[in-house]
Amino acid sequence: MSAVLSPALPQGAPPPEAAALAQRLARETQGETLFDTASRGRYATDASIYQIMPVGVFVPRTAQDVAIALDIARSERVPVLARGGGTSQCGQTTGAALVIDTSKHLRSVLAFDREAMTVDVEPGMVLDHLNAWLKPHGLWFPVDVSTSAQATLGGMAGNNSCGSRSIAYGNMVHNVAGIEAWLADGRLLRFGPLAGLGAAEREIADFVRGLADAQRDEIEARWPKVMRRVAGYNLDIFQPQSERPYTADGAVNLAHLLVGAEGTLAFTRSLKLQLQPLPQAKVLGVVNFESFRSAMDSAQHIVKLGPSAVELVDRTMIELSRANPLFRPVIEAALLGAPEAILLVEFSGADRTAQRVQLRQLVELMADLGLPGSVVEMPDEGPQKALWEVRKAGLNIMMSLKGDGKPVSFIEDCAVPLVHLAEYTDALTEVFRRHGSRGTWYAHASVGTLHVRPILDMRRDGAAKMRAIAEEAAALVRKYKGAYSGEHGDGLCRGEWIEWQFGPKINDALRAIKTRLDPANLLNPGKIIDPPKMDDSSLFRFAPGYRTIPLKPVFDWSAWNVQNDALTETTSAPGSGGDNTGGLAKAVEMCNNNGHCRKFDAGTMCPSYRVTRDELHLTRGRANTLRLALSGQLGADPLTGDAVAESLDLCVGCKGCKRDCPTGVDMAKMKLEVTAQRRLRHGLTLKDRLLAGLPQIAALASHWPAPFNLRNRLPLLRRLGERWLGLSAQRALPSFRRDTFWRAAPSLKLASREQLLAAAKPVVLFVDTFNGHFETENALAATQVLQAAGYSVFAAQGEQGQRLCCGRTQLAAGLTDEAKANARQLLDALAPLAARGIAIVGLEPSCLLTLRDEMLSLGLGEDAATVAGQALMFEEFVAREAAAGRFAPALRATQQQILVHGHCHQKAFGTTPASLAVLRLIPGASPTLIETSCCGMAGSFGYEARHQAVSMQMAELSLLPALRAAPDALVVADGTSCRHQIADGVQRQALHLARVLADHLVDPLVNNPTDRPAAPLAP
Ligand SMILES: Cc1cc2nc3c(=O)[nH]c(=O)nc-3n(C[C@H](O)[C@H](O)[C@H](O)COP(=O)(O)OP(=O)(O)OC[C@H]3O[C@@H](n4cnc5c(N)ncnc54)[C@H](O)[C@@H]3O)c2cc1C
Ligand code: SF4
Ligand code: SF4
Repeated sequence: MSAVLSPALPQGAPPPEAAALAQRLARETQGETLFDTASRGRYATDASIYQIMPVGVFVPRTAQDVAIALDIARSERVPVLARGGGTSQCGQTTGAALVIDTSKHLRSVLAFDREAMTVDVEPGMVLDHLNAWLKPHGLWFPVDVSTSAQATLGGMAGNNSCGSRSIAYGNMVHNVAGIEAWLADGRLLRFGPLAGLGAAEREIADFVRGLADAQRDEIEARWPKVMRRVAGYNLDIFQPQSERPYTADGAVNLAHLLVGAEGTLAFTRSLKLQLQPLPQAKVLGVVNFESFRSAMDSAQHIVKLGPSAVELVDRTMIELSRANPLFRPVIEAALLGAPEAILLVEFSGADRTAQRVQLRQLVELMADLGLPGSVVEMPDEGPQKALWEVRKAGLNIMMSLKGDGKPVSFIEDCAVPLVHLAEYTDALTEVFRRHGSRGTWYAHASVGTLHVRPILDMRRDGAAKMRAIAEEAAALVRKYKGAYSGEHGDGLCRGEWIEWQFGPKINDALRAIKTRLDPANLLNPGKIIDPPKMDDSSLFRFAPGYRTIPLKPVFDWSAWNVQNDALTETTSAPGSGGDNTGGLAKAVEMCNNNGHCRKFDAGTMCPSYRVTRDELHLTRGRANTLRLALSGQLGADPLTGDAVAESLDLCVGCKGCKRDCPTGVDMAKMKLEVTAQRRLRHGLTLKDRLLAGLPQIAALASHWPAPFNLRNRLPLLRRLGERWLGLSAQRALPSFRRDTFWRAAPSLKLASREQLLAAAKPVVLFVDTFNGHFETENALAATQVLQAAGYSVFAAQGEQGQRLCCGRTQLAAGLTDEAKANARQLLDALAPLAARGIAIVGLEPSCLLTLRDEMLSLGLGEDAATVAGQALMFEEFVAREAAAGRFAPALRATQQQILVHGHCHQKAFGTTPASLAVLRLIPGASPTLIETSCCGMAGSFGYEARHQAVSMQMAELSLLPALRAAPDALVVADGTSCRHQIADGVQRQALHLARVLADHLVDPLVNNPTDRPAAPLAP
C-alpha cells in the first residue's frame, strides 16, 4: 500500500499540496481553514510525547463541510486525520494530514429514543455534555472516561475508550449501537447490526467474516481473552474473544469494526449509543491494605461481589493527597492507620438495600481474606464524591513534576488477568528499578488495567529506556496472557506492538481490512497499519537536540529551572536546570497537552475557550504557541511575534489555569511576561500609557473630576475615545470623584503607624486605586466594619504619607521596572508591619492578590515574602478573626436572597469560601456562590472595543443568566470590574462584601457609607 504522504513528513513547512487544499476548502465550504504555522503547530500534538506538523487544519461548520473536505482532500491526494478533543495519549491525532476538528461545531444530539434507550449524536459532542443532556431523562452513557469533560464521543469511539466502571458497563465497543461514516472514497455508509445492513455495508461484513474465518485458529490462539484489549481492529466481531461479549445477545454489529480504528477506516458522521438507567444510588467501601501486593491479590476476589468500580490508590498517591490541606481530611476519612494501598470499591444501581448487602459482603470477604476491620464504609454520596476527586487530584500532582524528566505514558494500560495482577505489578516495579525509574500505580484494578508512568527524559536517554522498559513489560504481558494495549489505543506509541500481540497472519488480515476500506491510505496513515517505531525520535515533541532561544525574562521563573531525579522524584535547586530562558521555557513545557482546560463545568479555566471553542484561545493552545515560539519553531523571534500575541489576545489573565490546570500552567503570568517583552521591543501605545498611569490620573482628576468625566457624558468623545484609544464607546468608564477615601480619611479615626504598633487589635487596610478613588464607599465600609469590631485600622501609606500601589496596571502594560519601583516602595512601608505579624487587608482582589503572586516573582527578596505572608483579602481576614472569636460585631438579620460572584483571582486563590463564611455571620443569611468563570471584564479587557463583544459573551455564559433568574437577590461581588460588568449586563448594582457587612452593623461607629450616593460606575 502506498501512503500519499509519509506520516513522518519533516516538521515545519507545509507540502506543496497545502496551498491548493487551503484555497479550495476556503472557497467550497463554510468551515474555518487554518494553515498558518502556529495553527498547524497547535494541532501537531496531543497528550502523547509526539509532534507531527499537519498539512493544515479544517474546522467544519456542518457535516456537509466534512463531506466536501474529504472529497477535496482525496482529489488533492492529502490524507485526513479526524480529531475530537485531541486528548489521546499515544499520538493518534498527530500526523502529516489535513486535521479535521469536529469538536467546535459538530456536537449536537441528532435523535433520541427513550423507549429503546438510544441516542444519536454528532462525533464532536463531549461526553459530559451528553450526560448532562440525558440526566433529566434518568439515563446516561456509562463509558465514564477520566477525560469526560473533554473527550468527544467520536474520539472515544475512535480509541475504544473505557471508563472506571467498565467492569459493569464495558468499553465503547460494548456500548456503540451504530455508526454512520464516510469511507475514504466519499461514500456515506451505515454500520450497524448485521441483519439490517445495506448492500455496500454487507459486502464489507462478508469480507471481514472471510478474513476472520480464515484466521479462526490464529484468533483463538493469539487474541487476548481480557475485556480491556483495544489494539488493532476488532476482527473478533465474528468470533467473540472478549470476556464480555460485544453485544448483549451475541449478534454481530459491523459498527464495532470501526470502534478502536483510530480514524483509519472511516470518518464518523454520527454515532448511535446504547444508554443505561442512571444509578439511583451508590455505596463505597474503602479497603485498606498493609501491603501493595495484598491489594493486588484481593482484586480478583472483590470483583466477584459485582462492584461497579474497583480503583486503586497507592501509598505515593495517598501521601500526595495528605500533603494537600484541602484533601487531607477527605483522604484521612478513608484511611485506617497508614495503609500501603487502598481499593475504592463501589456498588451502584437502583436498589440501595442490595448495595448495603454488597457492602456487608465486602466487609466479610476481607475478614475471610485475613483482613478483618480493613473496610471504611461510605454510604453517603458527599464523602464518596470528595474521595473520587482526591483520587483524580493525586494523579494531577504526580503530573506536575518539574524538570525535563516527565512521567511518560506508553505502558500505562497493559491489562492482565486479575489472578496475575500481583505478580505482574511486582515484576514491572522491578523492571523500573533496574532502569533507574519508578512508577506510581493507580486506577482500574477491577479489570487488571493499572496505570503507571515511569519518569523518562525524552531529550536525553528517554527513548532508549522507553524501548527497554516496553520490551520487558511486553514480555510480562505475554507471560500473563494479557493485552499490551488495554485502554488508550495504539497511535504512534503502540502501533508497532500490534503485530507482536497478534502475530503476522492476523496483522495481514488487519492490513487487508485497511486496504479494502481505504485503499489509498488516506485516513490517518501510519496508525495501526505501517506504524513507525515508538522510539522514532524524529517524531518526539522534545526530541534530542530540542533547543530554546536564549532569553532574559523579566519575571523570576527559576522555580521551573530545575531537573529531577527519576528514582526519588526530588528536584534540584531553583535555577540549576540549564534553561537558557531562565525557567520560562520549562514553565511553558509543563503543559503536557492533556486537554483538561477544554472543560466547561464549574471552575475558572478557561473563559476565552468557552466563548470561542478555538484551540487558539485555550490554555493548551497558548502553551503550545509559546513552546513553539520559544524553541524557534515559529521563527527567530521567541516571544514578541504576532502568533504569540494572537494566541494571548483573549487571555483575560484570570489565573484559572494556575489553579485548575493539573500541572499548574500559569498563563496569566506568562501573558505578563510576553507583554513586558513586547513593550521592550515595540514600546507603549497611548492607551497602554493611560491605563498604566491610572493611579496617578485618578489622584490628579480627583481635584477637577468634571472635565475628566466628560468622556462618559458626550457621545462624540466616546466615539473619539474608541477611535484613538480603542476604548469601547458602549462602555461607561468609572467616574472620577472629589470625595475620595483619602479626603475622608482625617475624619475616620484611623490609627497612625505608631498607634498601630501599640494596638491590641491592629490591622493595615490596603486601600487600592479603585476603592480609594472610584468606589470610596467600599473602603469606608471596610474601615467602619473593622473599627466596629474593635480593630485599630491603619490605612496603608509610606512613612511620609505616600499612597501605595500594587503596580497591577503597570504590570498589565508591561512596565515591569515601574511596577518594581512601586512594589519596592510598598514593601519598604509594609514589610516592617508584616514582620510584626500585622495583617495587610485588601478589598480589590486583583490588587491585593498581586502582593501574594506577581510581587513574589519580581526579584524583590525576603520583604516580598514577608508581606505576602500577611496579605489577606478582607473576607479571609474577617473569616479568620471570626473563627478565632476576635470579630463579633452585632449584625442585623436578613431574609434576602444573597448571590455571590467570586472574582477570578479570588477563585484562583480559594478565598470564596471565606466570603460565604463571612456572609453567614449575618443572622438569617444563606449566601449562594454563583458557579461562574470570568465575568469577562477582567481589568481593562472588557473596556476595549475589540474585546467588548467577547467580554459580554463571557458574562452571558453563566453570570448574567444566574442574576436574571434571581431579580430580587442581593448581589455580592468584590471585583471592581465584575461590578461594572454586572451593572452593564443586568443594570443591577452589586455590592462589595465590606458594604454588605457595614449595612448590617447594628451599631455603626463611623460615618455610614450607605448615607453616601451609590458608586458611580455607569452614569
Ligand atoms: C489525563 C488523561 C486521562 C485519560 N483517561 C482515560 C480513561 O479513563 N479512559 C480512556 O479510555 N482513555 C483515557 N484517556 C485517553 C483519551 O482521553 C480518550 O481516549 C478519549 O476518549 C479521547 O477522546 P478525544 O475526543 O480527545 O479524541 P481524539 O484524541 O481527538 O481522537 C481519538 C481517536 O479517534 C479518532 N477520531 C476522532 N473523531 C473521529 C471521527 N469523527 N471519525 C473517526 N475517527 C475519529 C481520532 O483520529 C483518533 O484516532 C485519557 C487521557 C488523558 C490525557
Ligand atoms: S494547559 Fe494545563 S490543563 Fe491545559 S492541556 Fe496543558 S497541562 Fe492540560
Ligand atoms: S489566565 Fe484565564 S483566560 Fe488566560 S489561559 Fe488561563 S484560564 Fe484562560
